[in-house]
Amino acid sequence: MTLVDQTAEAVRPLLPVTGADLRVPLVTGGSAPYANLDIAASAPALRSVSERVDQLLPYYSSVHRGAGHGSAVSTAALDAARRTVAGFVGARPDDVVQVVRHTTDAFNLLASAVPGDVVTLDVEHHANLLPWARGRRRTVAAGRTLAATVAAVEAELAREPAALLAVTGASNVTGEVLPLADLVAVAHRHGARIAVDGAQLVPHRRVDVAGLGIDYLAFSGHKLYAPYGAGVLVGRPDWLEAAPPYLAGGGAVRAVALDAVEWAPVPARHEAGTPNVVGAVALAAACETLAALPPGEQARHESALGERLRTGLAALPGLRVLRLWDDATDTLGLATFTLADHPAELVAQYLSAEHGIAVRAGRFCAHPLLARLNDGGTAVRASVGLGTSSADVDRLLAALDALVTTGP
Ligand code: PLP
Repeated sequence: MTLVDQTAEAVRPLLPVTGADLRVPLVTGGSAPYANLDIAASAPALRSVSERVDQLLPYYSSVHRGAGHGSAVSTAALDAARRTVAGFVGARPDDVVQVVRHTTDAFNLLASAVPGDVVTLDVEHHANLLPWARGRRRTVAAGRTLAATVAAVEAELAREPAALLAVTGASNVTGEVLPLADLVAVAHRHGARIAVDGAQLVPHRRVDVAGLGIDYLAFSGHKLYAPYGAGVLVGRPDWLEAAPPYLAGGGAVRAVALDAVEWAPVPARHEAGTPNVVGAVALAAACETLAALPPGEQARHESALGERLRTGLAALPGLRVLRLWDDATDTLGLATFTLADHPAELVAQYLSAEHGIAVRAGRFCAHPLLARLNDGGTAVRASVGLGTSSADVDRLLAALDALVTTGP
């Protein structure tokens, strides 16, 4: 039994709109309940999030500058959102919460401030590869085990110092969770800071920035059951304080003359222009709701569904689940797979058009990783979340079973 199946009544108000509420037209005629197994791409907003946004919208007004009541409410809401996010991830008291557009934006901002080389793994999402290319990126090949991967990172940092180790908290392709405590220790032992790409991890596991010693954590609202358009970079202020503004313009300054400018301190320094108050407030509302779930409940729910998914997939003939590490002990509720003789895009189209099941096909913005795990070919990813039921997973398995036994 999972969270949704077991405690439907108690938890339902917290959940996103689920498949039972939405129907998908089928090419075969009629319709089917929508089974959204593409949560890892973007997670539908929680009810608490849309309620919080509804409460804020009547006060829609420019923050910081206006004198009216709406402006005061919006300003207070933005400040409170930063505090909520900081609390949710256990930030240190002097950490800054930069409101950005998404994880990609967060790492581009950090890339504009990092004072030296950046070491990454070859398994990263493009968001944690391409921004660093502007400076000096050094990429470490992940080993067959997590232990070997940590050792390879350590060898690279020992070979030549770096300013930053930037790693994902969990792979968006395999769902495997990385040993962050070990990576923090390795980075700090060699004088580097560590930035964690929390885009996949933070929505599904609680992350303790101060407790683990993480220097920077980035994540996106749209994967955390909040709307698109807002994300955060949480972490140490000094590099960001020393860097030129990431965006130049109003809001990022203390004083401007035509031939001189005095930039504001962080976070305003890097947030020129009218901020996305609604997005930040929505993201913070999602953090509050997730934090209020019974400890461990979300991870148990999603792990149980993930196990059901992977076990069911592994039993299908010709199906291969992509994995990186033999010793990974924690995996998010997702699985990426290939199906012999069935192109990934066609599998995804079949699942949607004939069964109302949403998955994702492609290379998941991780081309180097797909090159390594699948000769560069595309694959199918199914992912679960808070609103997913075991019936959703079983429908996917039955639809794939029908595909492999009878063909499309
Ligand atoms: N990092 C990981 C691990 C992801 O899965 C994603 C999104 O798929 C990103 C970064 C980029 O997130 P965004 O598109 O919100 O910037």
